[in-house]
Amino acid sequence: MVGPIERLIAGFRAFHARYYEQRPERMQELAARGQSPDVMLIACSDARVDPALLLGSEPGELFMVRNIANLIPPYGPDHGLHGTSASIEYAVRDLGVRHIIVLGHSACGGIEALRAAMSGKPDAREFMAAWTNIAADACTCDVDGVIPSQQQLELEAIRISLRNLETFPWVVERIEAGVLDARGWWVDLDDGRLCEVSKDSETLRDIVAGTEVRHVAH
Ligand SMILES: [Zn+2]
Repeated sequence: MVGPIERLIAGFRAFHARYYEQRPERMQELAARGQSPDVMLIACSDARVDPALLLGSEPGELFMVRNIANLIPPYGPDHGLHGTSASIEYAVRDLGVRHIIVLGHSACGGIEALRAAMSGKPDAREFMAAWTNIAADACTCDVDGVIPSQQQLELEAIRISLRNLETFPWVVERIEAGVLDARGWWVDLDDGRLCEVSKDSETLRDIVAGTEVRHVAH
């Protein structure tokens, strides 16, 4: 029986055959000239939403950060360990990416944890609450004291990340100069749908079908 580690090593063998044996020029070029991706992706660490698999990207195409709940913190240069901000800085200032995509997904465990914390459930984790709290504003209760649905929170967390992205001065500079844009995408794992999340409205659009999607309460 093949264990999980052996399975990964076999996967690397297949990768090696596909790229180093069948198309060595591309890998040699990447190794010699360095990366120059056009797109930065901020995705969730969730094992079900590997962007390279979902989007069929090739080596060198996507500069990626994956963290719990695909969140972007606000700009805050201090002595904290800002892994996501450092990646955004490198992508924008050094690599000069032209597009930034925040990629969220349904049934997100990070958003579930945030929802539980906002519902008053005790938190037994050391790092997650402080991190997911980036999206705390998404949890504003309605007039009846009801916390938004899981899906509403996932979508609003993407909007918050996009707004936070615009607190980085060198991001804003490039957006205003027309050399960088940012967008939010959300994958519905139930029906395999890729949707565009509007930053300023609740509109949700099926990117492949080109149609507007009604909210589905998960
Ligand atoms: Zn997630």
